[in-house]
Amino acid sequence: MKLATFTHNGEKHIGVITDDGVVDLSQIPGLPTDMLGFIQAGDAALEKAHGAANPANARLSLDEVHLEAPIANPPKILAIGLNYADHVEESKQEPPEHQIWFNKQANTAVGPTDDVIIPSVAPRFIDYEAELCLIIGKHCRHVPREMASEVIFGFTCGNDVSVRDWQLRTPQFTLGKSFASHAPIGPWIVTTDEFGDPHDKELRGFVNGELRQSSNTKHLIFDCYDQIAELSSAFPLQPGDIIFTGTPAGVGGAMKPPRFLRAGDEVMVEVEGIGSINNKCVDEGAPIMEIH
Ligand code: ZN
Repeated sequence: MKLATFTHNGEKHIGVITDDGVVDLSQIPGLPTDMLGFIQAGDAALEKAHGAANPANARLSLDEVHLEAPIANPPKILAIGLNYADHVEESKQEPPEHQIWFNKQANTAVGPTDDVIIPSVAPRFIDYEAELCLIIGKHCRHVPREMASEVIFGFTCGNDVSVRDWQLRTPQFTLGKSFASHAPIGPWIVTTDEFGDPHDKELRGFVNGELRQSSNTKHLIFDCYDQIAELSSAFPLQPGDIIFTGTPAGVGGAMKPPRFLRAGDEVMVEVEGIGSINNKCVDEGAPIMEIH
């Protein structure tokens, strides 16, 4: 099943994506109205949503809705660095002995066609990273890799937008990975049962239609299950947590000469079995102070 968050007539809803449009789940009594609540509601909610996709229920065409980040308010966004051998090589690093984790702030997520903001304080070294993202479905702790598939709710596409100068000028990646709007995800969540084996999916990244990244998730150094085992050994994972699983070679910063993103550029990330996100870069303009 494909599950989306969308805006229609100014209201945000969740829905099931079918071949002939979106079934708005707000017409089904007893279902949570946001994706985080839906994931927390577990198998009972999934069963109801399956039933909702029957032909008797009305559809909205995809043209009528604006797709939002599938989860707007994830408890956590975690991302792993240097997790494809060819990207380790282009980054001139040694293959990691341990998984390298950093946070993207939970409020950096934006939707599959929303703008990526080129920040005014750091406009010059903005880069893309095409990634498969997984969504945690269950509260879990100390999950062995053999059982890790059971705690995954589903998968989506992600662009781990990176401000390379801020990322690399300190030993911590956090700030450079956490600028506002720098975690575009979507276009929807494909549930684990429909997605199948997450470790044999084609993954591509394009800038203005030019193919820059092309790999397969079978090349992950630490696969999705290793990642869940490692993270959950340190702290609980929660329903709705988003995990960026790493990017292959072909990022702009490693090109010769480097080719960073500029206003007007469009980055598309495509994962086999999910679909694609396509986000345009726009200048932030003069910084505007906000206090409220
Ligand atoms: Zn990344």
